Amino acid sequence: MAIIRGMELDYPLKNEFSFSKLWTFYQCPWKFHLKYIQKFKDDGPALVGGKGIHAGQEADNLAKLAGRDMGMREVLEVAAETVKHEGALRGVTVNLDTFVRDHTAQLEKWYTLGWRDKVRPVPGTVEGAFRIELGFKDPLTGELDPPALFQGFVDVVSQEGAVRTVIDYKSGGRPVRQKLAEDNLQFVGYALAGKAPFVQVVSFVRGERQKPTVQRTTPIPTTEERVRKFLRFVEYGIRGVRTALKGGSFPRCSPSAYYCGQGGCAFFALCYPGKIENRFISVEKIIPVGECAEPEWHRKIKEIESVKPEKAEEIKVFVEGAEVRQGLVDTEQKKYTYEISMTDEQATLLQRFFEGEPITEKLVAVPFWAAELLDAAVIRNGKEPK
Ligand code: SF4
Repeated sequence: MAIIRGMELDYPLKNEFSFSKLWTFYQCPWKFHLKYIQKFKDDGPALVGGKGIHAGQEADNLAKLAGRDMGMREVLEVAAETVKHEGALRGVTVNLDTFVRDHTAQLEKWYTLGWRDKVRPVPGTVEGAFRIELGFKDPLTGELDPPALFQGFVDVVSQEGAVRTVIDYKSGGRPVRQKLAEDNLQFVGYALAGKAPFVQVVSFVRGERQKPTVQRTTPIPTTEERVRKFLRFVEYGIRGVRTALKGGSFPRCSPSAYYCGQGGCAFFALCYPGKIENRFISVEKIIPVGECAEPEWHRKIKEIESVKPEKAEEIKVFVEGAEVRQGLVDTEQKKYTYEISMTDEQATLLQRFFEGEPITEKLVAVPFWAAELLDAAVIRNGKEPK
């Protein structure tokens, strides 16, 4: 059992995380439930092919460290053997001839362009494990929350001169483009773990609609901004998982999400079986278009919006200037110190919109145009914002 800062991590599901575990939760909490709680397998030919490619590169990098130069044929053999072995292990059928054909073309380019020689592994980093220990505090009370582990593996750290770069091998039907790689927070975790200022992504692209090929990004720098975003991603993800585990609620993602389909999710047939029996939902009544009255909230919004242009002009006479507007901005931090004065008509209109709740409490939630209306209605009452 892992111990961090004197606290035991007794329950891996809520305390031990990887990028893919968090990413799965972000994509679809229900998929997280099926994969990590119910332990359904989502292995497929793509995963097995990827394992083969990784195994070939791993063998090549280990050979480099041992001072041995592996030829292309040998790398291909390791990859193909791994595909055979992993496929049998997982009960997944992979077309080995297609894999070998594609991977041969990929490796030819990998060697010919000299990209393979550019990878200079740092000892101990080939398939190198890492763990990042995280402390947590409750955002409301500041009390210590249970700590967590973020762990994973980097493919390899390469070093040229003093510069370290994490190399990440990807395999798929499409290459990882530069912009996508720069936005992908997975690589920030790798950079931190590999003590490397750069990450470079190498994509082995399958030949489905195009010729099989290999592409690589230029090294992506790890900026402070990206590290901050990565930590937010991890924090929100872990809090989300912990809340879901506590409440037992794992909603499904939008069925229109690009990955929620036959080709994108191994659980699609479970969620959307061909013949769906709607046992828990039924249509009781439809009030069709043309017979359905306009909802009250819709009518109210239209009414307020329709009043806005002339009222906005009319009440501008009350505005004392930029300082007053600044005061309204402060309301977001609950520092509102102005009194609001408006005509009875305006007050009724706004009060209706807020369902009778105090206007000042609601400023944060009002839409932009309503805030403008209020802004114009404020009379500074000889006070300064706190
Ligand atoms: S099919 Fe869609 S809803 Fe179901 S687990 Fe996969 S991504 Fe989620």
